[in-house]
Amino acid sequence: MKATGRVVEKVVESLIGEQGMMVADAALKSLKERKITPSPENYAIWLAYHSSVQAALRAELDMMIAAKRVIDDQVCDQLYIKYFEDVAIGSRMMKAGGKIAAEMEDVRKGLLKAGVKTKAYGEQLEIAKRELAKTDSPLITRDLVDSLVGATSEMASQSKNLETKLAESSIEIEALRVQLEQVRIEAATDSLTGLANRKEFDSRLAEMSAASDRGAGPMTVIMADIDFFKRINDTFGHQTGDQVIRFVATVMDRAKPKGGIVARLGGEEFAMIAPMTDRKTAMSIAEKIRQAVEGKRLVRRASNEDLGKITVSLGVSQRRPGEKPTDMVERADAALYASKRNGRNRVSQEELTKAKAA
Ligand code: GH3
Ligand code: MG
Ligand code: MG
Repeated sequence: MKATGRVVEKVVESLIGEQGMMVADAALKSLKERKITPSPENYAIWLAYHSSVQAALRAELDMMIAAKRVIDDQVCDQLYIKYFEDVAIGSRMMKAGGKIAAEMEDVRKGLLKAGVKTKAYGEQLEIAKRELAKTDSPLITRDLVDSLVGATSEMASQSKNLETKLAESSIEIEALRVQLEQVRIEAATDSLTGLANRKEFDSRLAEMSAASDRGAGPMTVIMADIDFFKRINDTFGHQTGDQVIRFVATVMDRAKPKGGIVARLGGEEFAMIAPMTDRKTAMSIAEKIRQAVEGKRLVRRASNEDLGKITVSLGVSQRRPGEKPTDMVERADAALYASKRNGRNRVSQEELTKAKAA
């Protein structure tokens, strides 16, 4: 920053007493004609060119112009590095940051740096202007400094625009990320209940099974099915049936332990994965669910009719390390059907004879 200030200082110094106004105008015109970014560095190059403070730079640019080469930001970058070597390192870093356009943060940081630079540049010029005002300098020199200040604010506004554009892009990217996240959530969610769907259940089951085998603690599955659900549907209609499904979903979701997940597997069937939960604890969670469902009197929303006692049957199993995740689900399902066979509205645990044998 200090170094860039020095270059500017040098250029400003060299312009004092010359046909400064014309040189400053010519430099600005060159930047505009060639659509070169009006950065302090680029402005320094073209001031140097038009004021011939750097003979070699002027010669090289003249050759390029004669050869009708396109002189753009990139060429200016190279010239700046070549002729203002001592001050170029910081600026090169800044520009390298800008090139990794995909990495928004880097660009933003680069721009912030540029903003600071612009400010320092502007301050430098303001100081020069005040100094000049103190002396009895000719009006034309003050005009020159004014035009330099003008160029600086033009540059500042351009980097402001860039910053705004980047801020907008990052808002768009953020919106896109939120949208993608939304789609991801929707794809994993059962729309009737807001619980996880079967697909999500399968993938979380595989994940949590692997974690359990790695030593995350015991893991259990609780399967539940609403009793005589067909009758509810047939008597009160499908919509009331849906209401009952949502009620049971809520009861199960509230009963899940920390890190647990509840899914609707289809129809009026639900499953809970309970990590770091052993069979005994899972049995008591299942019992609480059973009681909560049985204990609630539901009324039909449309007519206020009593729906009668709603009950669920449940089955519990615990993971056996190394087994297929579906094995545990099958055992919980078998336990659930034992509950149905034995009169419904009850909790059963998996058949343990095989477990003991294993
Ligand atoms: P059981 O006690 O043996 O479980 O008897 P059940 O009547 O609950 O068993 P069954 O599986 O035969 O009936 C399930 C019914 O659930 C059949 C189907 O019409 C209904 N069903 C499935 N999906 C939905 C749904 O999304 N909404 C509603 N309202 N009903 C559904
Ligand atoms: Mg049922
Ligand atoms: Mg069923």
